[in-house]
Amino acid sequence: MARDTFKALEPLVARAISAGEAEFDGERDRVTWNKRLALSRAPDAVVAVHSAEEVAATIRFAAANGFKVSPRGGGHNYQASALRDGGILLNLGALNTVEIDRGALTARVGVGIQGHPLSEQLAAAGLAFPVGHCVDVALSGYLINGGFGWNSGEWGAACANVEAIEMVTAAGEIVLASADRHAELFWAARGAGPGFFAAATAFHLKLHPLPATAYAWRAAFAASSAPALADWLTAATAAAPAGTEVGCFLFAHWDTGEHAIVLRVSACGDSEAEARDKVAPFVSPPPVARKIGDAKGEALPFTELFKLSPMPSGKRVAADHAWSDAAVGDLLMAVHDLPAPSADSTVDIVAFGGHTPVAVPRDAALTVSGGTGVGIYGLWDDPADDEVNRAWVRRVDEALAPYRTGRYVGEADLTLEPGRRAECFTPDALARLDALRRRYDPDGLFAVWP
Ligand SMILES: Cc1cc2nc3c(=O)[nH]c(=O)nc-3n(C[C@H](O)[C@H](O)[C@H](O)COP(=O)(O)OP(=O)(O)OC[C@H]3O[C@@H](n4cnc5c(N)ncnc54)[C@H](O)[C@@H]3O)c2cc1C
Repeated sequence: MARDTFKALEPLVARAISAGEAEFDGERDRVTWNKRLALSRAPDAVVAVHSAEEVAATIRFAAANGFKVSPRGGGHNYQASALRDGGILLNLGALNTVEIDRGALTARVGVGIQGHPLSEQLAAAGLAFPVGHCVDVALSGYLINGGFGWNSGEWGAACANVEAIEMVTAAGEIVLASADRHAELFWAARGAGPGFFAAATAFHLKLHPLPATAYAWRAAFAASSAPALADWLTAATAAAPAGTEVGCFLFAHWDTGEHAIVLRVSACGDSEAEARDKVAPFVSPPPVARKIGDAKGEALPFTELFKLSPMPSGKRVAADHAWSDAAVGDLLMAVHDLPAPSADSTVDIVAFGGHTPVAVPRDAALTVSGGTGVGIYGLWDDPADDEVNRAWVRRVDEALAPYRTGRYVGEADLTLEPGRRAECFTPDALARLDALRRRYDPDGLFAVWP
């Protein structure tokens, strides 16, 4: 039945594959980063589009035929929130054009563009944007979540660097939302994450001159050295210039397999000397801390920072997130003795702006953030290990509870308690989001919240 229904949509869009067709399973799996969830849900169809007009046609078709619509940018959400049972998965990944206005320091980009190709194209014009830390994160959901990326300590959250957003509403209307026009949609699109109730198709970005260089310093220690490092780490973070990104990562060391703390401190600058100075407070850790291998400092182009943040894809995943205003050393102490059951799993304690919280827009749905974000990422291969890995994520999350001030909507596990969503917004912002959704999407066409 659904297959016949979707025949009518085929001439209007780039590609529509409905359940039961030979390519359907492959297509459904391909559009979702988390392999644990890729195989567990099935929409009625996956529809790929090449333009806002095709998005509008899909939305009108869905409304007429009683399907819900779930926009998908890059499919990286840890809970695979774009992948639902039933309805249309609207794949926006091919909307990836980049038009740069170098003089105006702006660009209009399709939502599907990924961080690395965007950075490369901007760098060729001498420009930059605070893209996400991993190479393949699409701007789409990243910016709608808020977006805490490279050099966000200097430039603010990604959503603080957007002037206007093109989107298609539940009524099938194509609009350009900004602070002056459709201001409520613009407010919601900057931070609502999986709670957004329209399909964004393009972002009008504010850009920055490309930093001359970045500098990164990295050292690994035995996790048992956390007590020797904690106060020093807190003091070094306080001493580093605002904007220096301080990352403290717990995982199985790549050479020895030992449960390790990896410190990675990075900064951008107009010269190598300037960038190197910003990480200087970290380069002399207490000698009593047991190092694994040698520390390493390197200058690298802004576009190569991605290489410092590899995350394997094709894994089964469980993740969660906490914001905290506690000192980095205290957070390290809270979680350092909880090794993961899988070698690919990590706990990432990241003070994106060092001792200064990342700037967020004054008037946007992104209303909860903090000085430091702690991402808990369980990654493994064998379905038989699902429960032990998910239990580890919960255990680390519980250890962070005394320090938690909120959660990031882009990484928190919103599939757990229903109250989780309320931890991602101020009460006023969540009430405003709900009210706007009822107004702009009264029939609940868009599938919101995982
Ligand atoms: C490897 C990896 C690295 C990451 N690094 C960072 C990081 O450095 N900083 C950070 O802030 N976050 C980071 N994240 C989290 C990231 O912000 C989210 O996973 C985000 O959802 C990715 O965007 P996406 O387009 O792939 O989302 P999708 O999975 O495609 O969608 C997520 C949700 O947003 C909605 N959505 C997506 N696009 C649109 C749209 N155009 N219009 C309307 N709704 C839409 C979907 O309906 C869905 O509910 C990372 C995630 C991964 C897996």
